[in-house]
Amino acid sequence: MKILFVGSGALGSRFGYMLFKNNEDVTFVDSWEEHVENIRNNGLKVIIDDKDLGNYHIPIYRPDQVSGKYDVVFVATKSMQLRPMLEQVKHLFHKDTKIICILNGLGHVQTLKDYIKEENILIGVTVWTSGLAGPGVLSAHGVGKIELKQVKEDNLDKTLDLVNRLNASGLNIKYSEDTYQSIWHKAGLNCVLNTYCTLIDCNINQYGSFDKNIELTRAVLSEVTAVGKAEGIEVKQEVIEQNIENLFSLETGGAHYPSLYQDMKNGRLTEIDYLNGEVSRLGKKHNIPTPVCDVITLMIHSKEYINKNK
Ligand code: NAD
Repeated sequence: MKILFVGSGALGSRFGYMLFKNNEDVTFVDSWEEHVENIRNNGLKVIIDDKDLGNYHIPIYRPDQVSGKYDVVFVATKSMQLRPMLEQVKHLFHKDTKIICILNGLGHVQTLKDYIKEENILIGVTVWTSGLAGPGVLSAHGVGKIELKQVKEDNLDKTLDLVNRLNASGLNIKYSEDTYQSIWHKAGLNCVLNTYCTLIDCNINQYGSFDKNIELTRAVLSEVTAVGKAEGIEVKQEVIEQNIENLFSLETGGAHYPSLYQDMKNGRLTEIDYLNGEVSRLGKKHNIPTPVCDVITLMIHSKEYINKNK
């Protein structure tokens, strides 16, 4: 079984390393030249829970260098890079290639459907976390899990076999009918914490320490919940509120600055169009006003714009 990771950054390289270490046939593709060169020359350096686990010579290519056909493709770019990336690698899919998408945010199935039939799309959500300490250096902590669902559930047996096989490498995947709900719950949390921490310039603990944080949280979540329900997803606002509150303490990740904050700080584009921006877009489709998400999306874009023109 040939497994390809397109986008072999923080998350992709962590899953890829786990599979490679368990003797799976793993190939990486990434467009970041320095990262590709470092892994090619020295192997992927793996640091987990502050322990150096050595260097792993996982084959890695730039998108214009890779050839062949792959049976399983993990897509692990940032959300806004998904479509351009698929354009570059679509020739690597055969008629039964399964695509596993665990990007944060909303709207990815629509994009994937333009490249692969629905019974081969496995959409998911993960609470694994990962980071890069530099090009070619994976630095991650803790363990996690993945929830996954086949978009159209024909020939499900093959997917269930695949899940078992991937779980042998410790990915901890659960095939779940509730995946869409979990995707919306995680997106709801990110629509609140990623954006407000970026706009207020604070970590999660500091956001939680503001005594009226719940008013800010609910302003976003009432829109997320209404739009999610119009899309047919049983989005539970109280669950998202509780998930957010659980992160406030310094013991449970409160010192963390969300990924959108870090992207903004490093002058990169953010995933806002797949969070609050997608809620706004879907709101228009269903005639549901989303003034808070509209303004937040514009504010984040204005910050990106100012960053770019500094
Ligand atoms: P990342 O930026 O570390 O990795 C993305 C990689 O994709 C980069 O190395 C980039 O060079 C590469 N890339 C971009 N365009 C490409 C192209 N056309 N072809 C090949 N490679 C390309 O991002 P990440 O942190 O790994 O996040 C990936 C996704 O997973 C995001 O949606 C993120 O929100 C989500 N996620 C991340 C974490 C985490 O802890 N890092 C956890 C859960 C979900």
